[in-house]
Amino acid sequence: MTEDPFVEERRRMVEELRRLGVRDERVLRVMEEVPRHLFVPEHIQHLAYEDTPLPIGQGQTISQPYIVALMTEALSLRGGEKVLEIGTGSGYQTAILAELAGEVFSIERIPALAEEARRRLALLGYGNVKVRVGDGTLGWPEEAPFDRIIVTGGLPDLPDTIWAQLAEGGRLVAPIGGRYDQYLWVYVKEGGRRRRRALCPCTFVPIIGARGWPEDRGGPFAGGLGPGGDGRDV
Ligand code: SAM
Repeated sequence: MTEDPFVEERRRMVEELRRLGVRDERVLRVMEEVPRHLFVPEHIQHLAYEDTPLPIGQGQTISQPYIVALMTEALSLRGGEKVLEIGTGSGYQTAILAELAGEVFSIERIPALAEEARRRLALLGYGNVKVRVGDGTLGWPEEAPFDRIIVTGGLPDLPDTIWAQLAEGGRLVAPIGGRYDQYLWVYVKEGGRRRRRALCPCTFVPIIGARGWPEDRGGPFAGGLGPGGDGRDV
């Protein structure tokens, strides 16, 4: 077996996540295991364990590790859940979810990214993931309801199409706000009603779709903390 040259860098990344306040040991463990460098273009693999978003082509980004950890922690996965992810991107967040949940259904708008993510996830042996090309703002009605939903791009508001696909008692995490800056929110469905809590300011690429943002005014960079945000006390 080829040796993984990034083991030490991954360990350091996880130390940094701990320092930033990530507490869920299951999330930290899988982030120490999943090879993030295999989800970014080869020429920037040496940057894969920096706590920063990175370009993955098609004007899109792989999110900052801290944001991935924060969103995953907020989902409170215990194993066995059925999860919907909107915005597959590189497939890195998908892999983290696949490690911690039962099944993951992930939707990506850009066919080339979906294809690449599908190939990577299969190569890494994730048999509990389905990736499809489409408009995630409409959800995946044939597979609903989902115990957890995660949206990995910015939305102007939470579409009822997606909310309707969350199971009773389920949790949903999504960046909501302006086109270039949002707040990360955690929603819980209780008795059919919404309870929500803000996690932190953030900056994601827009989710473009029927119930998202219109096309052609895409933001420059994404998947990190917003200006001045420390991800806490919001
Ligand atoms: N979680 C990803 C990762 O780990 O690489 C990063 C996701 S990236 C910040 C947001 C992704 O959402 C982009 O790949 C973008 O193409 C996708 N996207 C935008 N609008 C979408 C839509 N309506 N449905 C599905 N995916 C969408």
